[in-house]
Amino acid sequence: MSHFAHSPNQNLHAFAFSHLRAERSPLQQKPLVIWMTGISASGKSTIADALDIALQAQGRLTSIIDGDSVRGGLCRDLGFTDSDRDENIRRVAEVARLMLEAGLVVIVALISPSAASRHYARSIIGNEFFVEVHVDAPLETAEQRDPKGLYKKARAGLIKHFTGIDSAYDLPVFPEVHLDTQALSVEQSVETILDWVARRDDHP
Ligand code: ADP
Repeated sequence: MSHFAHSPNQNLHAFAFSHLRAERSPLQQKPLVIWMTGISASGKSTIADALDIALQAQGRLTSIIDGDSVRGGLCRDLGFTDSDRDENIRRVAEVARLMLEAGLVVIVALISPSAASRHYARSIIGNEFFVEVHVDAPLETAEQRDPKGLYKKARAGLIKHFTGIDSAYDLPVFPEVHLDTQALSVEQSVETILDWVARRDDHP
């Protein structure tokens, strides 16, 4: 947890803005952060993409934050050590919170391997707005899928600190949604998340 120690500037005083947009919901939708965690090739981006289309078809305004995209921009100064991964997750959580406050349904697709960092992300975003979705696939299945050839490279020693190979993934213990991607099609995974969102709309 040490990476998450706050070191606030004593001279900073956040202005208490009148409205928390997440609460006043200007877009007539309940904002939410759908945080998809799982090892590489478990299906996060694929499911996030299909979920985004399905949520938009329901008339919701959405945004996707994908791990690979932020690594080319917002987080391009970061590597894959434990502390860099934690900082990567912290930045994504802060950006997701800003989008949440703008009223969006935010889909995050990020390996986010440590339970502590996911817990920290939840604390930044707020428990009532945070849905942890475990996109689950056994390592052997993910290695067989390997759409980007990353496992092959990691096994060959060409990529260090690769989650599942030489870097740990903490299995989520109580995710709000668990998707067994060996048993569920992409469409069924999307339906499972949509069901959760609908139930939450009825009973916030
Ligand atoms: P991640 O974002 O977790 O690294 P990707 O979505 O990039 O994973 O890759 C997952 C790969 O697995 C894709 O090629 C996808 O088509 C494939 N795949 C096969 N079956 C499934 C499934 N049931 N759910 C999600 N992805 C699946």
